[in-house]
Amino acid sequence: MDTVFGKIIAGEIQAEKLYEDEHCIVIPDINPAAPVHLLVIPKKPLAMLSEADEDDQLLLGHLMLVVAKMANQLGVADGYRVIINNGAGGGQTVFHLHIHIIAGFEMKESDM
Ligand code: AMP
Repeated sequence: MDTVFGKIIAGEIQAEKLYEDEHCIVIPDINPAAPVHLLVIPKKPLAMLSEADEDDQLLLGHLMLVVAKMANQLGVADGYRVIINNGAGGGQTVFHLHIHIIAGFEMKESDM
């Protein structure tokens, strides 16, 4: 729990929790890349997707449903992007698994 997200989950660092349940929180990204940029963060301190295993199957499915629920709530269900950066080579900077929800700008295939 020693990453910034672990500290937010533990209540040691303040963040606006847009959603919370027993498995995850959703917060706005502090440095948004688009008008809508949220992070869905599991409470379980998995460092990255590649460290997930079969025990995490239900959790990972739950996180994806929370992504869809948040996009619906924010009115962007018809156009958003879901990103997981995995490992330093994948652009990950905080080593506590999180899913980016990004919306509100024109997305092209070439933006990937
Ligand atoms: P990644 O590069 O996939 O590891 O993404 C980490 C994200 O966490 C970046 O988009 C940061 O802007 C965001 N971030 C870092 N610290 C905070 C924080 N205290 N609250 C919200 N978002 C944060």
